[in-house]
Amino acid sequence: MHRIAGIGLNRYAAAMERLDVSIRRQILKDDESIVGQPLELFGAGIGRSVQANTRHLALILLDSEAKERASRAAAYIENLADISSEKYVTALVACAKGCSHCCTTYVSTTLPEIFRLAQAIRGNAPTTARVQSAAARSRAMPQLQREVDRVVCPILENHACSAYLNRPVVCRAAQ
Ligand code: SF4
Repeated sequence: MHRIAGIGLNRYAAAMERLDVSIRRQILKDDESIVGQPLELFGAGIGRSVQANTRHLALILLDSEAKERASRAAAYIENLADISSEKYVTALVACAKGCSHCCTTYVSTTLPEIFRLAQAIRGNAPTTARVQSAAARSRAMPQLQREVDRVVCPILENHACSAYLNRPVVCRAAQ
């Protein structure tokens, strides 16, 4: 079961169902002006911004009629990370194409993001071979060593991400 902000999706859906219909509609209407905007990381709007985006993400994942819900949820989060990092991070750090420093550090990601990455590199034999070799090497390492060793991400090619549009959220935070 997917978990969002610490609660199970079923519990979230049940909590929304218990709300009066007019209140539920009003909440979702109020969310409209927040969804699609960068996260508020400072000031009074933080909680509201996180809640609205979490609700929107839950609605995507709960839409049982829609195809590829996990991919759509990952795409939503990736866009949120892009526009938020554009707003906050670009002004603070000097990331640019050609610098692959962060691609040799420990990168954690989520399953939907891994599915999207796998889809993006499918058919690309050299990248797939690098991923398989990195996976074999990584499996043979003790967990702690995996986290401290500077292992180059197999998606990296000529100091640039070869799956840039599908890179995980954590990579987007560093452009
Ligand atoms: S997925 Fe792309 S941006 Fe992320 S670590 Fe790998 S090469 Fe770097």
